[in-house]
Amino acid sequence: MSEANTLLMHPSRSVGADLQAWIKVGGGEGLLAALANAGNIINTLRDANLAGMGGAGFPSWRKWEAAAAATGSKGDKYIVCNGNEDEPGTFKDRYLLAHTPHQVIEGMLIAAAAIGANHVVLYINPHQTESIAAVSAAITQWQGSGLMGKLESFLGKPVHLKLVQTSGRYIGGEETAVVSWLDGGFPFPRRKPPYPAESGVDGQPTLINNTETFANVPHILRNGAEWYRNLGKGEASGTKLYSLSGDVLNPGLYELPMGTTLHDLIFVHGGGMLEGRAFKAVFTGGPSNTLLTAADLDVPLDFASVRARHSSLGTGAMIVISEGTSVVRKVAEYVEFFATNSCGQCPPCKGGTFQLARLLNRIDSGVSTEDDLRALQSLCRLLPGSGRCALIDGAVTVTQSSMRTFPQEYGLESEEAQ
Ligand code: SF4
Repeated sequence: MSEANTLLMHPSRSVGADLQAWIKVGGGEGLLAALANAGNIINTLRDANLAGMGGAGFPSWRKWEAAAAATGSKGDKYIVCNGNEDEPGTFKDRYLLAHTPHQVIEGMLIAAAAIGANHVVLYINPHQTESIAAVSAAITQWQGSGLMGKLESFLGKPVHLKLVQTSGRYIGGEETAVVSWLDGGFPFPRRKPPYPAESGVDGQPTLINNTETFANVPHILRNGAEWYRNLGKGEASGTKLYSLSGDVLNPGLYELPMGTTLHDLIFVHGGGMLEGRAFKAVFTGGPSNTLLTAADLDVPLDFASVRARHSSLGTGAMIVISEGTSVVRKVAEYVEFFATNSCGQCPPCKGGTFQLARLLNRIDSGVSTEDDLRALQSLCRLLPGSGRCALIDGAVTVTQSSMRTFPQEYGLESEEAQ
């Protein structure tokens, strides 16, 4: 699973919930370095080029800077680790939380020092019982620890560190839905702005980052921005957790230098395709993005390079399919997932995703008509941008991409699929 260059999943990090064992392998040094020069924490993340690992690859320091600059009406600020992780094919955050919770918590406490936050919340999917057990035990050890005392002295106020179980719904991972749930409501996404960094939990400035993003932070503060940048390949910085699944010999979670090629992930680290199978395509970044094919095997897996191929690295999930697999069938399954997980607030999403799935299933089962195909194309034109969150756009993106990439499976001429 691990490589020579691993940062987050190095065996020494897998100390479970034992804080003293974490400190023995350098734990706490990142927090102490941060407290010694707190005014420089955000600059260090900017120089390291740390990207948000939850999907968009947005530069992390910008969110941190916005939350640091915001002032809440009550004097409170919140740090939230988004550990809802519920998308098909993604299984990285649960590993970090279950095996190395301290590096995540330390990253969050560094964030508290950077923005002046006094509430630190680990927001974790209730289905991930191993993560919940490890994080609960880890929190108990941080509370009342010397390191926590130093942070509280620096901030001049107590820090409330706690775990909150999410609703267990996929949509609960959308960041405005996170805020809604933590405020005691249903996890309904809402339109932005305001962004949580300005007005989040209880109306106060709230910094929400993905679990993997926080896990990187203590190492960057401890070893420096240049060290982190040099872990990546080419222009890319750091490492990335890739959740590799599908028709490969060795599916699993791989931490590799950011910028490792798609070819090397699948054929070197993943052992190649299952015996007798030929590579057909990969759903990159989870089921809501565009497909990459054999022509893209040379793409470096970093946010910018994958974006240049009109796709997205997303969470780092790579779902590989082989020749003989029906792309329409796979896409129908993913769109059904989105339809089932729509929160139902926006009529175009509630009805549109079900209609997309119904049409895809008709095409896959061979009973579709030309009108079905036209209806599918029409929905793909009408639906994007009609919801309060990106769920509906994701369902359309994967559908359109599959029509463009494999038009023959839809019975389309290639120009009709554009
Ligand atoms: Fe809910 Fe869909 Fe609207 Fe998102 S787009 S808020 S999932 S109904």
